[in-house]
Amino acid sequence: MNRKYRKTIIAGNWKMNLLASQVKLFAESLKTLVPKAKWCETVVCVPYVMIPAALKAFKDSRVAVGAENVNENPKGAYTGEVSTAMLTDIGAKYVIIGHSERRQYYGETDFSVNAKLKAALEAGLSPILCVGESLQQREMDVTNEFITYQVKAALADIPVEKIRRIVIAYEPIWAIGTGKTATSDQAEEVCGEIRALIRKLYGARVARAVSILYGGSMNEKNAAELLSKPDIDGGLIGGASLVPEKFAAIINAANQDGE
Ligand code: PEP
Repeated sequence: MNRKYRKTIIAGNWKMNLLASQVKLFAESLKTLVPKAKWCETVVCVPYVMIPAALKAFKDSRVAVGAENVNENPKGAYTGEVSTAMLTDIGAKYVIIGHSERRQYYGETDFSVNAKLKAALEAGLSPILCVGESLQQREMDVTNEFITYQVKAALADIPVEKIRRIVIAYEPIWAIGTGKTATSDQAEEVCGEIRALIRKLYGARVARAVSILYGGSMNEKNAAELLSKPDIDGGLIGGASLVPEKFAAIINAANQDGE
């Protein structure tokens, strides 16, 4: 983390878990366990139907609420889809874009990810862009090339003035939901490469300001070590974000006093 130049962010991705009726209890527990997250921005990204319940439950706290996906079109005949305007209208602040599960199961491509990012930025949302290599790609030693490609494709035609609102999450696919965490050195290496790429594309000031998160089996035991790395500015957390005690421990690890 480097709090001098950028935000520390701990974001939960609840995926298709929990129910709207469980949100209030979750929020109450979290608020008790983390009375004040001074140094770190906390976000919970939840299924669309749970956003109103989450906004209500976290109303008197500093926890922001986000969606797990959004459609790239402004409006129209897209049955079952949700637009960026619908999200901002109800008060969502963040949106996860390009999660590997959406790329893998719902055919999201680098083109749709780029279009969704543009739509989210246009609407004033803060997108959390997910990128990450498969195990095969890591074993073939093409991780850096692949991540470079993914980030460049996602950011194509996005102007520098918009880029500051983007949060990037490096999520190696082999570490998501598997209990297999990247070592802090592995995670730092890729997060550092992403920052170097942003520097090349948008300049040093932007690169210094963009928050880059690690995601992939981050939990209450490994968070402090991962967050001790200079280019890891927080976490995107799946499984451990469903349990208030575990999520709180990660937030508290990110919220240690100091720079
Ligand atoms: C995720 O889905 O973004 C994620 C990181 O999940 P988990 O923490 O469960 O690996």
